[in-house]
Amino acid sequence: MSKRWPGRLARAARVMLREAAGGLVALCFPDDCRVCGRALEEPSRVPICSVCLSSFRLIAAPFCGTCGRQMVAGAHLGAAGPVCALCRRGVYSFQLARSYAAYDDALLRAISLLKHEAIRPLAAWMGQRLAELARGEPAVADADVVVPVPLHPERQRERGFNQAELLARVVASRLSLPIEVRALERRKPRPAKLKLSRHERWEAARGAYVAVTGRQFDNRRVLLVDDVFTTGATLDACARALQAAGAEHVTALTVARVVDVWAGTPP
Ligand SMILES: [Zn+2]
Ligand SMILES: [Zn+2]
Repeated sequence: MSKRWPGRLARAARVMLREAAGGLVALCFPDDCRVCGRALEEPSRVPICSVCLSSFRLIAAPFCGTCGRQMVAGAHLGAAGPVCALCRRGVYSFQLARSYAAYDDALLRAISLLKHEAIRPLAAWMGQRLAELARGEPAVADADVVVPVPLHPERQRERGFNQAELLARVVASRLSLPIEVRALERRKPRPAKLKLSRHERWEAARGAYVAVTGRQFDNRRVLLVDDVFTTGATLDACARALQAAGAEHVTALTVARVVDVWAGTPP
């Protein structure tokens, strides 16, 4: 009888270990891709399959040299390279903006996972893409400091985190730059309405951001990080606040970009 106990104990220990490991595996490697629903083939801490990750439509040339807006292939791009109509009118106060990919259905789902569930391995994957984008643009990579676009304090309290900050931390660490997460503050809340028109977005962002103390950005080159570039109103308002606090140069990176034209489709 006593001889059988070690065997039973070992079996019980094996079952317990298997169950614990199973819980851990389920936690780290969810079964299905959170974008397309297919089973994940390889263990990954990013809950999106490789097919979905490689399906994002990257913003590729030709795009506006200033704001990064996707432009139609074959359009008249001007002697000084492509510059969109908005940038020709000097609409944006930031010096340069770039985005990783078009805000289509797949990227919208991926961003909402980041926004509502703060999945850090996904923030790491996206932040790494932004750092690679920055390395290809010396004007962006040569920043002195990284600043995330802030949420209104009430929104941040409700959510418990700021998705732009999750991305900005990865970008700063990959580019070996300092980060200032509380440098900017959103004073004016976003209107409660779910969908805002282009005009409403500009109205909502105007004067909504302030640099927290004095002129702490004097002569500094700032890299702003956010999740989505919709109209550019938010990045413009943040750039204005940073410039009012002395920033010499403001660039911006976003994961997604709302595109109204796509180079792959004929005009
Ligand atoms: Zn998938
Ligand atoms: Zn532009």
